[in-house]
Amino acid sequence: MAMEMIKGLATTLRELGQKPTTVSYPEEKRQLPPRFRGRHVLHRYENDLERCVGCFLCAGACPADAIYIEAAENTEENRVSPGERYARVFDVNLLRCIFCGYCEQACPTGAITLENIYELASTHPDDLVYHKEQLLEAPGSATRGSLDAWSAPAPEETTTPLPGRQGFFDGQPATAASVGQGDLPAEQEIALGDEQMVRDVAAAEEA
Ligand code: SF4
Ligand code: SF4
Repeated sequence: MAMEMIKGLATTLRELGQKPTTVSYPEEKRQLPPRFRGRHVLHRYENDLERCVGCFLCAGACPADAIYIEAAENTEENRVSPGERYARVFDVNLLRCIFCGYCEQACPTGAITLENIYELASTHPDDLVYHKEQLLEAPGSATRGSLDAWSAPAPEETTTPLPGRQGFFDGQPATAASVGQGDLPAEQEIALGDEQMVRDVAAAEEA
């Protein structure tokens, strides 16, 4: 007992001089990584036209069914985007969203990105369905958002998270897993448990 107390006290004393890892939020805020995926932003071009062309690709890619779009036709009197259509309604339900970024990757025009906006709490579920008016950049403030951070090469330590050979897809280097090349021959039996479990399963199958 006494030994444990001494050990605990030693830990306390050791940590006394260390810099704290906590921050005094909300007065103080952490510097977030450039690829942090927070709330969505809809972007404009420099001429203020909306980048979104109402193609629904983001909604189709979303695994959580969190995006709702109603598209409308552009006309010469009312041109909102450079394409045939624009998003008349664009809602993102942040209660469903898992912040995976698939919508950003699916978008052909760079219209939607996930930004470092993380103060999203509310006691009213309706507040967490963000509408186009809240998501869209203000006129005259066109940015590319986090697109530049994502187009830069990934840090060395994150490029190949899975063991495997380097492969190529469309002339670009890709992980072995992404081009369907595993290191194990397809015929090789893969043990999902320990050897005893494999023997038990085999015996059960024979019985
Ligand atoms: S981040 Fe993922 S879950 Fe959220 S809206 Fe985009 S695709 Fe859907
Ligand atoms: S945000 Fe992009 S993917 Fe989604 S509807 Fe608009 S243009 Fe298409």
